[in-house]
Amino acid sequence: MQRRNFIKKAGLVLLAPSLLSACRTDDVSGAGKTVIVVGAGISGLAAAKKLKGKGFDVVVLEAQDRVGGRLRSNRSLGIPFDEGASWIHGIDNNPITDLAQKAGMSTFFTDDSDIVAYDQGGILITGASFSNSENAFYDILETLMTHGNATKSFETVFFEQYPQYANDRLWRFFLSTYVTFDLGDLDKVSSLLYDEGEEFGGIETISTNGYDTIPQYLATGLDIRLNQRVSKVDYSSAKVQVSHNSEISEADFVIVSVPLGVLKKNAIQFQPALPGAKQTAIDKVGMGCANKFLLTWDTAFWDNKQYLVYTPEIKDKFNYFVNVKKFHPSVNALMTFAYADYGRQTETMTDAQVMGEIMAHLRDMYGNNIPDPTNLLRTKWSTNENAFGAYSFTAVGTEMRHFEDLAASINDQLFFAGEHTEVDYFSTAHGAYLSGLREAQKIIDLL
Ligand SMILES: Cc1cc2nc3c(=O)[nH]c(=O)nc-3n(C[C@H](O)[C@H](O)[C@H](O)COP(=O)(O)OP(=O)(O)OC[C@H]3O[C@@H](n4cnc5c(N)ncnc54)[C@H](O)[C@@H]3O)c2cc1C
Repeated sequence: MQRRNFIKKAGLVLLAPSLLSACRTDDVSGAGKTVIVVGAGISGLAAAKKLKGKGFDVVVLEAQDRVGGRLRSNRSLGIPFDEGASWIHGIDNNPITDLAQKAGMSTFFTDDSDIVAYDQGGILITGASFSNSENAFYDILETLMTHGNATKSFETVFFEQYPQYANDRLWRFFLSTYVTFDLGDLDKVSSLLYDEGEEFGGIETISTNGYDTIPQYLATGLDIRLNQRVSKVDYSSAKVQVSHNSEISEADFVIVSVPLGVLKKNAIQFQPALPGAKQTAIDKVGMGCANKFLLTWDTAFWDNKQYLVYTPEIKDKFNYFVNVKKFHPSVNALMTFAYADYGRQTETMTDAQVMGEIMAHLRDMYGNNIPDPTNLLRTKWSTNENAFGAYSFTAVGTEMRHFEDLAASINDQLFFAGEHTEVDYFSTAHGAYLSGLREAQKIIDLL
């Protein structure tokens, strides 16, 4: 569903400074200079490709056995299940739109208005009732920050101002899907900064042949060493030394593009320790949890709508379904989600337990006679050692300068990319991509 469309109402589409600088044509050559990029997600690959294009000698060290990071497509059921990013959020001027065309990523317009909503007991929520509440909700989102407080979460301020919605299941659905999914845990998102970040205009499109086509395209021709887990980055001498597996490699410049969750876990030791401002930013910016679930059936029993909404008792629990059949007509599949605490809880559940909980919602919507699914695919982002979370968010205590601190380079040697370093477009694939171009440009500018 549309991310941050309440902000979009302002009609302001910014061209990020990083994008502007990425467009400059510099007549420089990096020949003879070496770069190690840690992490082969879209940010690291974008940086590596740009630097290689400028003649730098670039090596990418990636912990996993494949490139792409959070752009990861599981094709084991015959259609791609995008475990991380699925959508291009706003196709106008979005750099992913152009990249998708070059990479051969096909897309489908997911129409947000093609929606049906059910309350408990399978009671249909009328279109008018749904849209009236949705509009009222967006109006509140536009003004809630005027009541915001640096020490209070979105949840606290929202229910202080609007206690009448505390037990309203439809409003809890909006809070979950439009705030928690997009912006982070409701009880942790900043009541002041929840609407920070920009977005591109235009429709939302979903990848139909797998988002990983983009990292695969970017990776072409690069020197990428897979299964190389970096454990230490020593930038105390003229060359930066990087420990990975049992080796040490060195380079003139190192770009660290691992997720914020990995930095929070101190999975990489920095020598000397990172500056205080960067460490504070690592601690303060939030890392949320969003898990995705793909289920298939022999026959489809659901409405021929793009989105099927359900208003459960437990917040953030399997409360909407993407009708995958709309863009893969030969497959009977639904994709659903679990966020925040409930999302983390699913990671301790068995497949059978997860299926049981999802089916309980679908049976409440469509009756007890619907069949059991034939397959389930799922993610466990918060315990995934290569990410430790889904994407960054403005937690209580975050200040926007923290994103800049996350991006700040050290000694013109050590650079940082990744979605969490992009102040305007954090938490997205396009933000990650732009951050890689930005860091490559910083290195090019040093020549
Ligand atoms: C569930 C979910 C849904 C999303 N939906 C969307 C969406 O629809 N649209 C959108 O625009 N964005 C979406 N996003 C966000 C988007 O996927 C990310 O912002 C983006 O892919 C992050 O790219 P990155 O390069 O910053 O990090 P990553 O892709 O995480 O790349 C970092 C790389 O570093 C590697 N690494 C980690 N530790 C080490 C180590 N010690 N040594 C070496 N390598 C290491 C990792 O394996 C990984 O390959 C979603 C993300 C998730 C999780």
